[in-house]
Amino acid sequence: MEGSGEQVSDVKIDDLPIRDELRGKSPYGAPQLDVPVRLNTNENPYPLPEPLVERITERVREAARNLNRYPDRDAVELRTELAKYLTKTGKYLVGVENVWAANGSNEVIQQLLQTFGGPGRTAIGFEPSYSMHGLIARGTGTGWISGPRNDDFTIDVAAAEKAIAEHRPEVVFITTPNNPTGNAVPPETVLALYEAAQAAKPSMVVVDEAYIEFSHGDSLLPLLEGRPNLVISRTMSKAFGAAGLRLGYLAAHPAVVDAVQLVRLPYHLSAVTQATALAALEHTDTLLKYVEQLKAERDRLVAELRAIGYDVVESDANFVQFGRFEGDGGAHAAWQKILDRGVLVRDNGVPGWLRVSAGTPEENDAFLDAVRELKKEQSA
Ligand SMILES: *Cc1c(COP(=O)(O)O)cnc(C)c1O
Repeated sequence: MEGSGEQVSDVKIDDLPIRDELRGKSPYGAPQLDVPVRLNTNENPYPLPEPLVERITERVREAARNLNRYPDRDAVELRTELAKYLTKTGKYLVGVENVWAANGSNEVIQQLLQTFGGPGRTAIGFEPSYSMHGLIARGTGTGWISGPRNDDFTIDVAAAEKAIAEHRPEVVFITTPNNPTGNAVPPETVLALYEAAQAAKPSMVVVDEAYIEFSHGDSLLPLLEGRPNLVISRTMSKAFGAAGLRLGYLAAHPAVVDAVQLVRLPYHLSAVTQATALAALEHTDTLLKYVEQLKAERDRLVAELRAIGYDVVESDANFVQFGRFEGDGGAHAAWQKILDRGVLVRDNGVPGWLRVSAGTPEENDAFLDAVRELKKEQSA
């Protein structure tokens, strides 16, 4: 072949003068494959209801008239509405001064690590957990420590306390309900780790509650009382069915909200994003009804997977981790066989386990048919 295409493709990432810690690494990569049933990224399977689509259109049209101007840099109206939502659902009084918002909770986490992590500092998470915590740590030059979990995927409190005392990280991540395993972390565990983190060196404890609306239990928001180094991070990507919107937020002491503003890019939340999120928040009650349906479907998945003969981790999220698939690469082979039947689930690299997101009843039926066949094949 002639031309520059081939020459350009000869250049690999590692030929560029990239930062040493990025060499040989892979980006976040949940496959976006075009298959009939996609149950791999914990999205809400229900499209937004039509009245909400109408309201978004109205609010965005209004915003469009002012796109010659920069948006509200501090997103005050949006943060006020998020604070009302948290107060209503979280059994704890949250004000605008306690809330910060960004483009997805991934950006919230990035801003937290830019503020409290960075070169010469470390963050710890208890794995398997949300892989982006480690990836964003790396992206911000923060050292990453992979803390332990028990075989049943609960946090081993004594081992976690020991790891915190030993490494003295500046940031501690606790994901509850945890992704990919689905189990919630008891409040006592969060409190114990908060105490351990303060004893080792005053550190920030970030509780990632991306899936809290799906939980059998309550948000840990009330733990913010008297704990200025605690942060609760939330998102509209899952329960609000708005992954495409890119809106995440945190609740914390007002000093934390002031601190992250030292690193945020000016005008990071576009006027279109703010208008869309405000419209979605007007429809909270409708959106939370879908959450109830998804919780029922999640419980059905757990029950049916067990009836088929799979092991399942108790789930407080909108997904279920199931297994076990024996042997080296057993989980990946099973992932491929389920995909061959038109259903995309997630292989998070946890040996022996796969994760399925709760979809519509029809999607879940298709998934259950696929894994039922797989079970028959494997026990034949
Ligand atoms: C999906 C998910 C998020 C959401 O990230 P967004 O950037 O808000 O879409 C955050 N934390 C965890 C644990 C998640 O699984």
